[in-house]
Amino acid sequence: GSRYRILNRNIQISTLKSQGEHTMNQQGILVVVSGFSGAGKGTLMKELLRRYDNYALSISATTRKPREGEENGREYFFLSEEEFKKLRDEHKLIEYAKYVNHYYGTPKEYVEEKMAQGKDVILEIEIQGALKVKKRYPEALLLFVTPPSAEELKRRLVGRGTESIEVINARLKRAAEEADGMEAYDYLLINDEIDTCVEKMHQLIQLQHEKTSYHLDFLGKMREDLYHLDERN
Ligand code: 5GP
Repeated sequence: GSRYRILNRNIQISTLKSQGEHTMNQQGILVVVSGFSGAGKGTLMKELLRRYDNYALSISATTRKPREGEENGREYFFLSEEEFKKLRDEHKLIEYAKYVNHYYGTPKEYVEEKMAQGKDVILEIEIQGALKVKKRYPEALLLFVTPPSAEELKRRLVGRGTESIEVINARLKRAAEEADGMEAYDYLLINDEIDTCVEKMHQLIQLQHEKTSYHLDFLGKMREDLYHLDERN
């Protein structure tokens, strides 16, 4: 239950400390952003990173082919299936999932390095991966982005013109399945107007920094100091 989780977390923190890390609140937040294909996540992320310095966007590995305008190492690391499976088998991925015939996975090293530097790291991944991340990092913040309506979703997917009608239909079907899991996320972001949505996302992430679980060192010190104040009287 939750008591076990708290215990577990304390152990993780003392491990970090013994490695020379002193204040947990300098650690960045892990943010998972999911949403239906065509929800406008890409544009949102781009805008968030343009406006604020404190974010790092994780670049996933995938076995799908690059779309026009996509570059290896920028949107994704485009790998063969063998290369992908090698990474997976060497435990270099935080999570991975199969999405409409292709593998997608999050390389571990970059994420852990950036978080340790105090950056808030954003993973733009689908739901199976999101749930795996939440298990592995219970403090992660899970955001779900959706367009205002199903109709609008289809309009955007068709309008983007990057996929064939078969792929669009497969992605819409997948969206219907993913819609089942939306409650697993911490917050919903309705991407009606990009500007408002970016600001809301930024605020939610910043608020997460104030959670007590990110300030256990401070809380511990406060508790100790209060105890000693009491002793003196
Ligand atoms: P797309 O092919 O449109 O770039 O991505 C398809 C889906 O895969 C999107 O929902 C995207 O968020 C998800 N995705 C991208 N990278 C990863 C990843 O590393 N892990 C998981 N689980 N999903 C990912």
